[in-house]
Amino acid sequence: MQTKKMFINGKWVGSESGETREIINPYNSEVIAVVSEGSAADSQKAINAARKAFDSGIWSNLTGIERASYLFKINELILRDHEELSRLESLDTGKTVEESRWDMDGIADIFKYYAFLASDDCGYIIDSPFPDTSSKAVFEPVGVCGQISPWNYPLLQASWKMAPALAAGCTIVMKPSEITPLTAIKITELCQEAGIPDGVVNLVLGPGIGVGSELAESNDVDLISFTGGIVTGKKIMQAAASNVKKIALELGGKNPNIIFADCDFDTALDFALNAVFFHAGQICSAGARLMVEDKIHDQFVSELKKRIEKIKIGSGFDDSTQMGPLISEEHRSKIEDYVKLAIKEGAVLETGGKRPDDENLKNGFFYLPTLFTNCTADMEIVKEESFGPVITVEKFSSDKEALKLANNTEYGLSAGFWTNSPARIDKFSKGLRFGTIWVNDFNVYYPKAPWGGYKQSGIGRELGREGFGEYCEIKHIFQNFSNKPMNWFGTSE
Ligand code: NAD
Repeated sequence: MQTKKMFINGKWVGSESGETREIINPYNSEVIAVVSEGSAADSQKAINAARKAFDSGIWSNLTGIERASYLFKINELILRDHEELSRLESLDTGKTVEESRWDMDGIADIFKYYAFLASDDCGYIIDSPFPDTSSKAVFEPVGVCGQISPWNYPLLQASWKMAPALAAGCTIVMKPSEITPLTAIKITELCQEAGIPDGVVNLVLGPGIGVGSELAESNDVDLISFTGGIVTGKKIMQAAASNVKKIALELGGKNPNIIFADCDFDTALDFALNAVFFHAGQICSAGARLMVEDKIHDQFVSELKKRIEKIKIGSGFDDSTQMGPLISEEHRSKIEDYVKLAIKEGAVLETGGKRPDDENLKNGFFYLPTLFTNCTADMEIVKEESFGPVITVEKFSSDKEALKLANNTEYGLSAGFWTNSPARIDKFSKGLRFGTIWVNDFNVYYPKAPWGGYKQSGIGRELGREGFGEYCEIKHIFQNFSNKPMNWFGTSE
C-alpha cells in the first residue's frame, strides 16, 4: 500500500522520522490506508511554510474577490468528487454513505458561503465624533492558523475551519484526527488542484501530542482553532498562552431533548431517534439526554424502545443500514464503561447495553442502540458525553423543573424541545443556556447560522459571519483631515 503523505509548502512529504500509521476500517478492522506519522518537527516545518506564505502577502494581499475565486473552485471540485469523498469518509468512519453525502453537501456549501463573505465583508464605517475626520474598522487576516479537528465529522469539522480562514486571507496548518485523515488528505489535493499558492494550505498528520500540541504551543502560530473533547481543549488553552494566541474552541456537548406532552408525538418520537442514533451517537450535538413530561412518559418510552429495537446496524455501504459501527475498539470500551456505571448508579437498561450477537459484525466496533430509563441528573451517564448510541430518559412534571434540569450541566452546546405552546416556546428559547436551540426539530446546522457553545462547550463560534470573524483582526483606522497643534506642552519658543 502506498503511503499517503503530508503536504507542506506545496509538496507531498513523508515524516521526518519516516514513521507511518495504519488506518483501520471500523466496520471490519481491516487496514484501508497507510499514512505518514508526523511529529512536532513536521508541524514546525509546516508552521514555517505557513508563516513564510503569510508574511509574503501571496494570499493575504489578494483581493477578497481573488480569494473567493479559489474557494468557488474548491466548491466545484468537491461537487465533482462528491461521491468519492462520501465513500472515503464512510470507509474511514463507518458512518452510512448517505450520511457522508449529507456531510459533503454541507462542505461544498461552506466553501461557497465563505467565498461570498471573502468578497463582501471587509469592514464598516464608524460615525466619528470629531469634525473633519474619518473613522473606519477594517478586517484583516489574523495570520497563521493551526486547525485541529476530531474523528467524528472529519471533513465537515475541518471545512468549518479551512473555508473561513482562507476567505479571510489566513494561511493554515491542518491537523485531522490521526485515526481519520483520509478526506483531509483528499481535500488538500483539491486545494492543490484549485491552484492555491504553496504554503497557504499545509497538512500535517499524526498524534495530538507532538503534531497537535506543537501547533498550540508555537509562537509562530497566531490562532489555534480546535474541535474535540473538553480535556484536550483545556490543554490547548494552556498551551496557547505561550504567545497569547487567539483561540477558538468547539468542545463537547450533553444536549437535552425535551418532550412536552402537547408536542406532535410521532414527529418528536422520530426525531428522538434521529437526535441520538445518527452516526451511532458520535455527534457533539447528539440529543442523548431525553427529558419527557410525565403525562406521556410511559407511552413515549414504550414506543421509543420498540423503534430502537428495529434499528438496522451494519456496513455503512449497505443501503439498508441505518447505523454503522463506532470509530474504534478503544471508543467502544469507553462506552461499555459508561453503560456499566449507569447500571451501577441505578439507571434501568431497557434495551441494548451490549455488542450485537450477529457473527457478520464481529470484526467491527459495533454496539447496540441502548436505552436507559429512571435516569437522574446526577448520574455520570446523564452528565457526561458517552459519545455513543446511548440515550437516557429523565421524567419531569413542570416547565420550571424541565428548565432547571436542562440547564443543570457544565456543557452548553445545543438543546431542543418539542411543544405546540407559543408561550412555552418563548420561555424555553430564552431560558435555555445553550449556543443553539432547536424548536420542534433537532440537529439542524447550515453555513449561515453561527455554531458554538455556552459554558464549557467552547469559546467563539464557527459558521456564519461570526465564524469568519474568528479569523479576522479588526483594525480601527482614524484619519484627521485638518489637524493642528494643541500646544498642551507649550511650543519650542
Ligand atoms: P480529542 O480531543 O481526543 O481529539 C481531537 C483532536 O485533538 C485530534 O486531532 C487529536 O489528535 C488532537 N489532540 C489530542 N490531544 C492533543 C493535544 N494535547 N494537543 C493538541 N491536539 C491534541 O477528541 P476526539 O475524540 O477526536 O473527538 C470527540 C470530541 O470532539 C467529543 O468530545 C465531541 O463532543 C467533540 N466535538 C465537538 C464538536 C463541536 O462542534 N462542538 C464537533 C465534533 C466533535
